[in-house]
Amino acid sequence: MQSKLGTSRKGNCPKCGDNKWATIVGHFEHSYEHDEAPMTINEEWFLLFCPACKKAYFASKPTYSQVVPVGDDEGDEAEYFWEGEAQQWPKPEKWKRPTWLPVLQTKSAQLHSLFLELFAALDEDLKVLAAIGMRTAFECTWGLLSLPPTYTFEGKLDALLNAGKIGRHEYDSLSALTDAGNASAHRGWVPSEEELEEMMSILTAFVQRSIMTGAVKLDPPPKPPRPPKQPKKSY
Ligand SMILES: [Zn+2]
Repeated sequence: MQSKLGTSRKGNCPKCGDNKWATIVGHFEHSYEHDEAPMTINEEWFLLFCPACKKAYFASKPTYSQVVPVGDDEGDEAEYFWEGEAQQWPKPEKWKRPTWLPVLQTKSAQLHSLFLELFAALDEDLKVLAAIGMRTAFECTWGLLSLPPTYTFEGKLDALLNAGKIGRHEYDSLSALTDAGNASAHRGWVPSEEELEEMMSILTAFVQRSIMTGAVKLDPPPKPPRPPKQPKKSY
């Protein structure tokens, strides 16, 4: 069989999205018999490299085949094929990550790790767990702001407002976020996709403004010196 290495194949790039051309840089194929059912499983694994974002990822799509008797005559058989479920690692990111996410690790490894889990839950469509995770991420962010200890979410929001860390509008937004997280944690409320998007935009705005602002040193060029004033001519 001709080697597939170096040839191109379309894949679902974790960064660039589905149906993107990639180069096959690794390939493995094998077949084996199913433990119980009379069928053959054929697995073909690809290590793909996306030239656009320079990321590599594994992808496979197993196929199954089964030989079954057909017709009335003994020995008449036909082989049927069907496709199995595609597998991939890393999985495509359905939710766009904020540009500051890698830098968050330098501010708080715990909050960074929480955000990675949160995005993994969102990508997997685990809505209740994602909503609870957002509430936890809010609490973790709050803990980084050196405010006097308080145990209720309401108390935490009041402390933020009183310390001038947030305004009234953000207070209301964060209050809605923690209420939603509570509803998922205690009553199993399942937010919709749109509600999750709204909750994430409230959370990321809060983290960006309270933790990430100032992470990059602004270095504008100095003001050019003013030209010396010309003495007024007297005639
Ligand atoms: Zn890519």
